[in-house]
Amino acid sequence: MRVISILNDPKPSLSFEVFPPKKETALESVERAVKTIAQIKPAYMSVTYGAGGGTSKYTLDIAKSIKEKYGVETVEHLTCVSSTKEMVRRQIENIKASGVENILALRGDIPADMLDCDRNGWAYNHATELIAELKEANPDFCIGAACYPEIHPESRNSKEDIRFLKAKVEAGCEFLTTQMFFDNTLLYRFLYKLREAGVNVPVVAGIMPITKANQVERAVKLSGCHVPQRFISLVDRFGSDEASMKQAGIAYATDQIIDLFANGVSNVHVYSMNKPDVAQKIYSNLSDILGKSYE
Ligand code: FAD
Repeated sequence: MRVISILNDPKPSLSFEVFPPKKETALESVERAVKTIAQIKPAYMSVTYGAGGGTSKYTLDIAKSIKEKYGVETVEHLTCVSSTKEMVRRQIENIKASGVENILALRGDIPADMLDCDRNGWAYNHATELIAELKEANPDFCIGAACYPEIHPESRNSKEDIRFLKAKVEAGCEFLTTQMFFDNTLLYRFLYKLREAGVNVPVVAGIMPITKANQVERAVKLSGCHVPQRFISLVDRFGSDEASMKQAGIAYATDQIIDLFANGVSNVHVYSMNKPDVAQKIYSNLSDILGKSYE
């Protein structure tokens, strides 16, 4: 099933993200986590992909198994930065053969040692090029892309960021998934700007439940997102006790999701980081809200 049909439904939907193992030895534990999260029967699950192909080896297998073994719809991430045309084409052929219909098309982060090199000769400089290629390879693919409520770190301003986002939609992207954010007002402001610029595809809100104090620093470093004082106070107070921090982090994420649903953002994607217990807890906190129709 193309996930756009889920995203166009006004009912609240909750989906989860998993990531493939870096080493073969970790495959079994990732598969266990995937199975437990799939048993929650979320709206869909997405599987991340290593930029440059690094940890991509298992992405498609995991995405395929989510669909075939557990009957949950799946979105395979695909990056193109520092890849050759041939590598990407091969991967697209593999996706076509697998039956996976939904792809989150990404550029990927530019590797640190390539930041200063001349990128003119690169096969892919931006996700737009990958989206166009996917659309050409199979017009039936349902293609999504990333967006950034607090603008992408390489962008000069939000106007420029949204202009390039619009180009992704014009190239064939049918939905957008946001970078994590901890302050919903930033998302509402971003959505207003998107609609004003004529970007009208569904936007899936990406929520990261922070369950350990040291995750905050990593999340901020990765995404550059703003951490509100309310969240800083929570980490200050509970960060030293693992169980308390986990409970508080799940409650904060749940609260964010309820506020999003209440304000008409129907689709939420949880960066569940291969933690089935976190996914289960968030899902059960929302069990009466999910699956109902609020017109
Ligand atoms: P792009 O859309 O290419 O944008 C990158 C920058 O270039 C932006 O500043 C944009 O404004 C600008 N830009 C875009 N088009 C043009 C143009 N035509 N000309 C000039 N400038 C332009 N990374 C992974 O490695 N694997 C994953 O699985 C993964 N999943 C992700 C999922 C989500 C929901 C998000 C939000 C991010 C994910 N990332 C992943 C991280 C992502 O790869 C990085 O944020 C990366 O730096 C940008 O990717 P992009 O697809 O947004 O790039």
